[in-house]
Amino acid sequence: MKHDVVVIGAGVIGVCTALALQQKALHKKAQQILLVDRYKPAAGASFGNAGAIVNGSCVPTSMPGILNDVLKMIFKPHNPLSIRPSYLPKLLPWLIRFMNESRISLAHQNAENLFALSKHSVSAWRELTNETPLEDLLGKGGWLKVYESKNTFNSTLRARELMTQIGTQYEILDRDDIRDLEPNLALIFNYGFFQKDRLNILDPGRLVDGLVEQFLQLGGKFEKFSVEEIQVTPTHHSLKGQGAELLADKVVLATGAASKKLARQMGDSIPLDTERGYHMMFPVATKSLLNRPVVNGESSFVLSPLEAGIRMTSQIEFAGVEGMADYSHIRRLMPEVKRMLPDIELKEESVWMGCRPSLPDSLPVIDFSKRSHKLIYAFGHHHLGMTLGAVTGLLIADLLNTGSSSIDIKPYRANRF
Ligand SMILES: Cc1cc2nc3c(=O)[nH]c(=O)nc-3n(C[C@H](O)[C@H](O)[C@H](O)COP(=O)(O)OP(=O)(O)OC[C@H]3O[C@@H](n4cnc5c(N)ncnc54)[C@H](O)[C@@H]3O)c2cc1C
Repeated sequence: MKHDVVVIGAGVIGVCTALALQQKALHKKAQQILLVDRYKPAAGASFGNAGAIVNGSCVPTSMPGILNDVLKMIFKPHNPLSIRPSYLPKLLPWLIRFMNESRISLAHQNAENLFALSKHSVSAWRELTNETPLEDLLGKGGWLKVYESKNTFNSTLRARELMTQIGTQYEILDRDDIRDLEPNLALIFNYGFFQKDRLNILDPGRLVDGLVEQFLQLGGKFEKFSVEEIQVTPTHHSLKGQGAELLADKVVLATGAASKKLARQMGDSIPLDTERGYHMMFPVATKSLLNRPVVNGESSFVLSPLEAGIRMTSQIEFAGVEGMADYSHIRRLMPEVKRMLPDIELKEESVWMGCRPSLPDSLPVIDFSKRSHKLIYAFGHHHLGMTLGAVTGLLIADLLNTGSSSIDIKPYRANRF
Protein backbone atom coordinates (compact mmCIF):
# COMPACT_ATOMS: atom_id res chain seq x y z
CA MET A 1 0.00 0.00 0.00
CA LYS A 2 1.30 3.46 -0.88
CA HIS A 3 0.72 6.16 1.73
CA ASP A 4 -0.05 9.70 0.61
CA VAL A 5 2.38 11.07 3.20
CA VAL A 6 4.81 9.41 5.60
CA VAL A 7 6.14 11.66 8.37
CA ILE A 8 9.41 10.26 9.77
CA GLY A 9 10.02 11.19 13.42
CA ALA A 10 7.40 11.65 16.14
CA GLY A 11 9.02 14.49 18.06
CA VAL A 12 7.17 17.78 18.36
CA ILE A 13 8.02 18.77 14.77
CA GLY A 14 6.87 15.54 13.12
CA VAL A 15 3.77 15.24 15.30
CA CYS A 16 2.66 18.85 14.69
CA THR A 17 3.20 18.30 10.97
CA ALA A 18 1.22 15.05 10.92
CA LEU A 19 -1.65 16.65 12.85
CA ALA A 20 -1.68 19.78 10.66
CA LEU A 21 -1.75 17.59 7.54
CA GLN A 22 -4.58 15.49 8.95
CA GLN A 23 -6.60 18.54 10.05
CA LYS A 24 -6.23 20.12 6.63
CA ALA A 25 -6.99 16.81 4.89
CA LEU A 26 -10.40 16.74 6.57
CA HIS A 27 -11.42 19.76 4.57
CA LYS A 28 -9.98 18.40 1.33
CA LYS A 29 -9.71 14.87 0.00
CA ALA A 30 -9.07 12.11 2.53
CA GLN A 31 -5.37 11.33 2.74
CA GLN A 32 -3.46 8.34 4.11
CA ILE A 33 -1.03 9.93 6.52
CA LEU A 34 1.37 7.69 8.43
CA LEU A 35 3.59 8.91 11.27
CA VAL A 36 6.53 6.67 12.14
CA ASP A 37 9.18 6.72 14.86
CA ARG A 38 12.00 4.28 15.60
CA TYR A 39 10.89 4.26 19.26
CA LYS A 40 7.66 6.04 20.25
CA PRO A 41 6.28 9.59 20.20
CA ALA A 42 8.35 12.09 22.21
CA ALA A 43 11.30 9.71 22.47
CA GLY A 44 13.85 12.48 21.78
CA ALA A 45 14.40 16.12 22.75
CA SER A 46 10.67 16.82 22.74
CA PHE A 47 10.19 14.85 25.95
CA GLY A 48 12.42 16.53 28.48
CA ASN A 49 12.74 20.20 27.57
CA ALA A 50 11.86 23.30 29.62
CA GLY A 51 8.49 23.68 27.90
CA ALA A 52 8.70 27.38 27.06
CA ILE A 53 6.92 28.69 23.98
CA VAL A 54 8.99 31.80 23.49
CA ASN A 55 6.84 33.83 21.14
CA GLY A 56 8.93 36.29 19.12
CA SER A 57 12.24 34.75 20.14
CA CYS A 58 14.88 36.13 17.82
CA VAL A 59 18.36 36.08 19.38
CA PRO A 60 20.54 33.52 17.58
CA THR A 61 23.04 31.54 19.66
CA SER A 62 25.93 32.90 17.62
CA MET A 63 26.03 36.64 18.37
CA PRO A 64 28.73 39.29 18.03
CA GLY A 65 31.20 38.77 20.87
CA ILE A 66 30.46 35.03 21.13
CA LEU A 67 34.12 34.08 21.41
CA ASN A 68 34.52 36.35 24.42
CA ASP A 69 31.29 35.00 25.96
CA VAL A 70 32.44 31.41 25.48
CA LEU A 71 35.79 32.13 27.12
CA LYS A 72 34.02 33.80 30.07
CA MET A 73 31.63 30.83 30.36
CA ILE A 74 34.43 28.30 30.44
CA PHE A 75 35.84 29.95 33.57
CA LYS A 76 32.47 30.14 35.38
CA PRO A 77 32.15 27.80 38.40
CA HIS A 78 29.03 26.23 36.85
CA ASN A 79 30.18 26.21 33.26
CA PRO A 80 27.05 25.69 31.15
CA LEU A 81 29.06 24.84 28.01
CA SER A 82 31.22 21.79 27.45
CA ILE A 83 32.90 20.05 24.52
CA ARG A 84 33.89 16.42 24.95
CA PRO A 85 37.58 16.45 23.87
CA SER A 86 37.19 13.28 21.76
CA TYR A 87 34.36 14.97 19.81
CA LEU A 88 36.24 18.21 19.05
CA PRO A 89 37.80 17.13 15.70
CA LYS A 90 34.33 16.17 14.37
CA LEU A 91 32.79 19.37 15.67
CA LEU A 92 35.43 21.75 14.33
CA PRO A 93 33.87 22.50 10.90
CA TRP A 94 30.53 23.24 12.62
CA LEU A 95 32.25 25.47 15.19
CA ILE A 96 34.01 27.48 12.47
CA ARG A 97 30.69 28.07 10.69
CA PHE A 98 29.05 28.91 14.02
CA MET A 99 31.72 31.54 14.81
CA ASN A 100 31.34 32.99 11.31
CA GLU A 101 27.60 33.51 11.92
CA SER A 102 28.45 35.89 14.79
CA ARG A 103 29.33 38.72 12.36
CA ILE A 104 26.94 41.63 13.02
CA SER A 105 25.26 41.57 9.62
CA LEU A 106 24.71 37.79 9.67
CA ALA A 107 23.51 37.71 13.28
CA HIS A 108 20.99 40.45 12.49
CA GLN A 109 19.76 38.60 9.42
CA ASN A 110 19.47 35.34 11.38
CA ALA A 111 17.49 37.17 14.08
CA GLU A 112 15.03 38.51 11.50
CA ASN A 113 14.62 35.09 9.94
CA LEU A 114 14.08 33.45 13.32
CA PHE A 115 11.54 36.10 14.26
CA ALA A 116 9.65 35.54 10.98
CA LEU A 117 8.77 32.08 12.34
CA SER A 118 8.66 32.64 16.09
CA LYS A 119 6.30 35.62 15.99
CA HIS A 120 3.59 33.13 14.97
CA SER A 121 4.38 30.59 17.69
CA VAL A 122 1.53 31.32 20.07
CA SER A 123 -1.10 31.79 17.37
CA ALA A 124 0.04 28.58 15.65
CA TRP A 125 -0.17 26.58 18.90
CA ARG A 126 -3.64 28.03 19.49
CA GLU A 127 -4.68 27.05 15.95
CA LEU A 128 -3.38 23.49 16.26
CA THR A 129 -4.83 22.81 19.72
CA ASN A 130 -8.03 24.83 19.34
CA GLU A 131 -11.03 23.19 21.07
CA THR A 132 -9.00 20.18 22.17
CA PRO A 133 -8.16 19.16 25.77
CA LEU A 134 -4.54 20.07 24.94
CA GLU A 135 -5.32 23.78 25.36
CA ASP A 136 -5.18 23.15 29.12
CA LEU A 137 -1.53 22.12 28.85
CA LEU A 138 -0.57 25.60 27.66
CA GLY A 139 -0.01 27.90 30.65
CA LYS A 140 0.09 31.67 30.27
CA GLY A 141 2.81 32.60 32.76
CA GLY A 142 5.32 34.25 30.43
CA TRP A 143 9.11 33.88 30.50
CA LEU A 144 11.24 35.48 33.22
CA LYS A 145 15.03 35.86 33.32
CA VAL A 146 16.70 36.97 36.56
CA TYR A 147 20.20 38.21 37.37
CA GLU A 148 22.08 38.96 40.57
CA SER A 149 24.88 41.19 39.32
CA LYS A 150 24.74 44.30 37.17
CA ASN A 151 27.66 42.96 35.18
CA THR A 152 25.85 39.82 34.08
CA PHE A 153 22.68 41.75 33.33
CA ASN A 154 24.64 44.28 31.30
CA SER A 155 26.16 41.45 29.28
CA THR A 156 22.66 40.86 27.84
CA LEU A 157 22.51 44.42 26.47
CA ARG A 158 23.40 43.44 22.91
CA ALA A 159 20.70 40.76 22.88
CA ARG A 160 18.13 43.16 24.32
CA GLU A 161 19.02 45.84 21.76
CA LEU A 162 18.58 43.30 18.99
CA MET A 163 15.19 42.28 20.39
CA THR A 164 14.10 45.92 20.46
CA GLN A 165 15.27 46.45 16.88
CA ILE A 166 13.50 43.34 15.59
CA GLY A 167 10.30 44.01 17.54
CA THR A 168 10.34 41.38 20.30
CA GLN A 169 8.37 42.62 23.31
CA TYR A 170 9.89 42.54 26.81
CA GLU A 171 9.93 44.48 30.08
CA ILE A 172 12.90 45.30 32.30
CA LEU A 173 12.32 44.43 35.96
CA ASP A 174 13.90 45.46 39.26
CA ARG A 175 14.16 43.52 42.51
CA ASP A 176 10.62 44.43 43.67
CA ASP A 177 9.02 43.53 40.32
CA ILE A 178 10.76 40.13 40.45
CA ARG A 179 9.50 39.53 43.98
CA ASP A 180 5.94 40.44 42.94
CA LEU A 181 6.03 37.91 40.10
CA GLU A 182 7.85 35.13 41.98
CA PRO A 183 7.63 35.60 45.76
CA ASN A 184 9.42 32.30 46.52
CA LEU A 185 12.66 33.27 44.79
CA ALA A 186 15.50 34.19 47.15
CA LEU A 187 15.94 37.96 47.43
CA ILE A 188 19.23 37.85 45.54
CA PHE A 189 17.97 38.83 42.11
CA ASN A 190 18.24 42.53 41.35
CA TYR A 191 17.65 42.65 37.60
CA GLY A 192 15.36 40.81 35.26
CA PHE A 193 13.54 40.86 32.02
CA PHE A 194 10.10 39.50 31.40
CA GLN A 195 8.31 38.47 28.22
CA LYS A 196 4.69 38.19 29.19
CA ASP A 197 3.11 36.90 25.98
CA ARG A 198 4.95 33.55 26.24
CA LEU A 199 3.22 30.24 26.95
CA ASN A 200 4.57 27.50 29.17
CA ILE A 201 3.83 23.85 28.48
CA LEU A 202 2.84 22.02 31.67
CA ASP A 203 4.16 18.67 30.38
CA PRO A 204 5.96 18.66 27.00
CA GLY A 205 5.91 14.85 26.69
CA ARG A 206 2.20 14.71 27.45
CA LEU A 207 1.54 17.50 24.94
CA VAL A 208 3.28 15.51 22.16
CA ASP A 209 1.41 12.33 23.14
CA GLY A 210 -1.85 14.29 23.14
CA LEU A 211 -1.15 15.68 19.67
CA VAL A 212 -0.63 12.11 18.43
CA GLU A 213 -3.95 11.13 20.00
CA GLN A 214 -5.69 13.97 18.11
CA PHE A 215 -3.98 12.86 14.89
CA LEU A 216 -5.18 9.25 15.39
CA GLN A 217 -8.72 10.38 16.21
CA LEU A 218 -8.83 12.27 12.90
CA GLY A 219 -7.88 9.11 11.00
CA GLY A 220 -4.05 9.25 10.99
CA LYS A 221 -1.93 6.16 11.66
CA PHE A 222 1.19 5.62 13.76
CA GLU A 223 3.74 2.81 13.37
CA LYS A 224 7.00 2.02 15.12
CA PHE A 225 9.48 1.92 12.24
CA SER A 226 13.13 2.92 11.99
CA VAL A 227 13.98 4.37 8.57
CA GLU A 228 17.48 3.37 7.53
CA GLU A 229 17.38 4.08 3.83
CA ILE A 230 15.33 6.29 1.51
CA GLN A 231 15.14 5.57 -2.21
CA VAL A 232 13.41 7.73 -4.78
CA THR A 233 11.71 6.08 -7.77
CA PRO A 234 9.74 7.83 -10.55
CA THR A 235 6.45 6.91 -8.82
CA HIS A 236 7.13 6.90 -5.09
CA HIS A 237 9.60 6.96 -2.17
CA SER A 238 10.69 3.70 -0.66
CA LEU A 239 11.56 3.82 3.05
CA LYS A 240 13.54 0.80 4.18
CA GLY A 241 14.39 -0.43 7.64
CA GLN A 242 14.40 -3.57 9.80
CA GLY A 243 13.89 -5.78 6.76
CA ALA A 244 10.63 -4.01 5.86
CA GLU A 245 9.60 -1.30 3.40
CA LEU A 246 7.08 1.54 3.42
CA LEU A 247 5.93 3.27 0.23
CA ALA A 248 5.03 6.93 0.18
CA ASP A 249 4.02 9.53 -2.35
CA LYS A 250 5.33 12.38 -0.15
CA VAL A 251 7.72 12.27 2.80
CA VAL A 252 8.47 14.63 5.69
CA LEU A 253 11.87 14.12 7.33
CA ALA A 254 11.52 15.31 10.94
CA THR A 255 14.07 13.18 12.74
CA GLY A 256 15.59 15.99 14.82
CA ALA A 257 19.29 15.63 15.61
CA ALA A 258 19.42 12.30 13.72
CA SER A 259 18.48 13.86 10.37
CA LYS A 260 21.93 14.40 8.84
CA LYS A 261 22.48 10.87 7.51
CA LEU A 262 19.06 10.55 5.84
CA ALA A 263 19.38 14.05 4.31
CA ARG A 264 22.73 13.02 2.84
CA GLN A 265 21.01 10.08 1.13
CA MET A 266 18.72 12.68 -0.46
CA GLY A 267 21.72 14.58 -1.87
CA ASP A 268 22.00 17.30 0.77
CA SER A 269 25.03 17.87 2.96
CA ILE A 270 23.70 19.82 5.93
CA PRO A 271 25.91 20.99 8.84
CA LEU A 272 23.62 19.64 11.54
CA ASP A 273 25.06 18.85 14.96
CA THR A 274 23.65 18.58 18.41
CA GLU A 275 23.76 20.82 21.47
CA ARG A 276 22.89 18.29 24.13
CA GLY A 277 20.96 19.41 27.21
CA TYR A 278 19.99 17.87 30.54
CA HIS A 279 17.13 17.94 33.01
CA MET A 280 16.47 16.99 36.61
CA MET A 281 12.99 16.61 38.08
CA PHE A 282 12.18 17.61 41.67
CA PRO A 283 9.18 16.27 43.64
CA VAL A 284 5.62 17.08 42.55
CA ALA A 285 4.94 19.36 45.55
CA THR A 286 7.65 21.78 44.35
CA LYS A 287 5.55 22.90 41.36
CA SER A 288 3.60 25.43 43.45
CA LEU A 289 6.81 27.34 44.24
CA LEU A 290 6.94 29.06 40.84
CA ASN A 291 4.33 30.61 38.55
CA ARG A 292 6.27 30.31 35.30
CA PRO A 293 9.64 29.11 33.90
CA VAL A 294 12.42 31.23 35.39
CA VAL A 295 15.89 31.45 33.85
CA ASN A 296 18.77 31.91 36.28
CA GLY A 297 20.92 34.24 34.20
CA GLU A 298 23.93 33.87 36.50
CA SER A 299 24.24 30.08 36.41
CA SER A 300 22.44 29.46 33.07
CA PHE A 301 19.70 27.08 34.09
CA VAL A 302 15.91 27.15 33.88
CA LEU A 303 13.43 26.11 36.56
CA SER A 304 10.04 25.23 35.02
CA PRO A 305 6.99 24.41 37.14
CA LEU A 306 5.48 21.39 35.37
CA GLU A 307 2.55 19.14 36.36
CA ALA A 308 4.98 16.58 37.79
CA GLY A 309 7.10 19.06 39.77
CA ILE A 310 9.82 21.59 39.06
CA ARG A 311 12.13 20.65 36.19
CA MET A 312 15.62 22.10 36.05
CA THR A 313 17.12 22.23 32.54
CA SER A 314 20.60 23.31 31.61
CA GLN A 315 23.77 22.81 29.64
CA ILE A 316 25.03 22.94 26.10
CA GLU A 317 27.21 19.89 25.63
CA PHE A 318 28.90 19.01 22.36
CA ALA A 319 29.46 15.26 22.40
CA GLY A 320 27.52 14.03 19.35
CA VAL A 321 24.23 12.14 19.27
CA GLU A 322 25.78 8.80 20.19
CA GLY A 323 27.96 9.79 23.19
CA MET A 324 27.00 8.62 26.70
CA ALA A 325 25.19 11.09 28.97
CA ASP A 326 27.16 12.73 31.78
CA TYR A 327 24.64 13.64 34.49
CA SER A 328 27.28 15.35 36.62
CA HIS A 329 26.56 18.44 34.47
CA ILE A 330 23.07 18.78 35.95
CA ARG A 331 23.76 17.38 39.42
CA ARG A 332 26.43 19.94 40.23
CA LEU A 333 23.82 22.70 39.87
CA MET A 334 21.74 21.45 42.82
CA PRO A 335 23.27 23.84 45.39
CA GLU A 336 22.54 26.76 43.01
CA VAL A 337 18.90 25.65 42.77
CA LYS A 338 18.60 25.71 46.57
CA ARG A 339 20.21 29.16 46.64
CA MET A 340 17.69 30.40 44.08
CA LEU A 341 14.62 28.75 45.58
CA PRO A 342 15.30 28.12 49.28
CA ASP A 343 12.02 26.24 49.96
CA ILE A 344 12.58 23.60 47.30
CA GLU A 345 12.86 19.97 48.39
CA LEU A 346 16.16 19.15 46.72
CA LYS A 347 15.38 15.54 45.90
CA GLU A 348 16.35 14.13 42.51
CA GLU A 349 13.29 12.32 41.08
CA SER A 350 14.89 11.66 37.70
CA VAL A 351 17.52 12.92 35.27
CA TRP A 352 17.47 13.00 31.47
CA MET A 353 19.58 14.03 28.48
CA GLY A 354 18.28 15.11 25.06
CA CYS A 355 19.78 16.23 21.74
CA ARG A 356 18.86 19.67 20.42
CA PRO A 357 19.18 19.58 16.61
CA SER A 358 21.32 22.63 15.82
CA LEU A 359 22.63 24.42 12.75
CA PRO A 360 25.31 27.12 12.98
CA ASP A 361 22.89 29.98 12.13
CA SER A 362 20.17 28.99 14.66
CA LEU A 363 17.65 28.48 11.86
CA PRO A 364 15.88 25.25 10.98
CA VAL A 365 15.87 23.54 7.61
CA ILE A 366 12.43 23.77 5.99
CA ASP A 367 12.88 22.87 2.36
CA PHE A 368 12.40 20.23 -0.32
CA SER A 369 15.31 17.86 -0.81
CA LYS A 370 17.68 18.00 -3.76
CA ARG A 371 16.76 14.53 -5.07
CA SER A 372 12.99 14.73 -4.59
CA HIS A 373 10.60 17.65 -4.64
CA LYS A 374 8.14 15.49 -2.75
CA LEU A 375 10.41 14.96 0.24
CA ILE A 376 10.53 17.89 2.60
CA TYR A 377 12.88 18.56 5.53
CA ALA A 378 11.67 19.84 8.89
CA PHE A 379 14.50 19.73 11.40
CA GLY A 380 17.17 21.84 13.10
CA HIS A 381 15.01 23.75 15.60
CA HIS A 382 17.84 23.87 18.21
CA HIS A 383 16.71 25.58 21.47
CA LEU A 384 13.28 26.43 20.07
CA GLY A 385 11.60 23.26 18.81
CA MET A 386 8.69 23.50 21.25
CA THR A 387 8.28 27.17 20.36
CA LEU A 388 8.38 26.51 16.61
CA GLY A 389 6.65 23.09 16.48
CA ALA A 390 3.14 24.26 15.60
CA VAL A 391 4.21 26.99 13.16
CA THR A 392 6.51 24.52 11.37
CA GLY A 393 3.79 21.86 11.20
CA LEU A 394 1.26 24.27 9.69
CA LEU A 395 3.87 25.60 7.24
CA ILE A 396 4.90 22.13 6.03
CA ALA A 397 1.25 21.11 5.63
CA ASP A 398 0.67 24.14 3.37
CA LEU A 399 3.82 23.44 1.36
CA LEU A 400 2.88 19.80 0.82
CA ASN A 401 -0.76 20.52 0.03
CA THR A 402 -0.39 23.60 -2.16
CA GLY A 403 3.32 23.98 -2.99
CA SER A 404 3.38 27.44 -1.37
CA SER A 405 3.11 29.03 2.07
CA SER A 406 2.41 32.39 3.67
CA ILE A 407 5.92 32.46 5.20
CA ASP A 408 8.80 32.69 2.73
CA ILE A 409 10.96 29.57 3.26
CA LYS A 410 14.03 30.88 1.42
CA PRO A 411 15.98 31.62 4.64
CA TYR A 412 15.53 28.00 5.76
CA ARG A 413 16.69 26.29 2.55
CA ALA A 414 18.82 23.17 2.76
CA ASN A 415 21.67 24.42 0.55
CA ARG A 416 22.26 27.77 2.28
CA PHE A 417 25.66 26.84 3.72
C1 LIG B 1 17.32 20.62 27.97
C2 LIG B 1 16.50 21.15 26.83
C3 LIG B 1 15.62 22.20 27.07
C4 LIG B 1 14.86 22.73 26.03
N1 LIG B 1 13.93 23.71 26.29
C5 LIG B 1 13.17 24.21 25.29
C6 LIG B 1 12.17 25.20 25.55
O1 LIG B 1 11.94 25.59 26.69
N2 LIG B 1 11.48 25.69 24.50
C7 LIG B 1 11.69 25.28 23.22
O2 LIG B 1 11.05 25.79 22.31
N3 LIG B 1 12.58 24.29 22.94
C8 LIG B 1 13.33 23.76 23.95
N4 LIG B 1 14.25 22.79 23.68
C9 LIG B 1 14.47 22.37 22.29
C10 LIG B 1 13.43 21.36 21.84
O3 LIG B 1 13.23 20.37 22.82
C11 LIG B 1 13.87 20.72 20.52
O4 LIG B 1 14.22 21.72 19.58
C12 LIG B 1 12.74 19.89 19.91
O5 LIG B 1 12.26 18.96 20.85
C13 LIG B 1 13.21 19.16 18.64
O6 LIG B 1 12.11 18.45 18.16
P1 LIG B 1 12.26 17.43 16.95
O7 LIG B 1 10.91 16.88 16.70
O8 LIG B 1 12.98 18.10 15.83
O9 LIG B 1 13.28 16.31 17.50
P2 LIG B 1 13.05 15.14 18.54
O10 LIG B 1 12.11 15.51 19.61
O11 LIG B 1 14.40 14.69 18.96
O12 LIG B 1 12.32 14.02 17.69
C14 LIG B 1 12.94 13.32 16.65
C15 LIG B 1 12.29 11.94 16.60
O13 LIG B 1 12.77 11.27 15.44
C16 LIG B 1 12.92 9.90 15.77
N5 LIG B 1 13.88 9.32 14.81
C17 LIG B 1 15.19 9.64 14.68
N6 LIG B 1 15.73 8.92 13.67
C18 LIG B 1 14.76 8.12 13.16
C19 LIG B 1 14.70 7.18 12.11
N7 LIG B 1 15.79 6.89 11.36
N8 LIG B 1 13.52 6.56 11.84
C20 LIG B 1 12.41 6.85 12.59
N9 LIG B 1 12.41 7.74 13.61
C21 LIG B 1 13.57 8.38 13.88
C22 LIG B 1 13.42 9.92 17.20
O14 LIG B 1 13.17 8.67 17.85
C23 LIG B 1 12.62 11.08 17.80
O15 LIG B 1 11.44 10.64 18.42
C24 LIG B 1 15.01 22.23 24.71
C25 LIG B 1 15.89 21.14 24.48
C26 LIG B 1 16.61 20.60 25.53
C27 LIG B 1 17.51 19.43 25.27
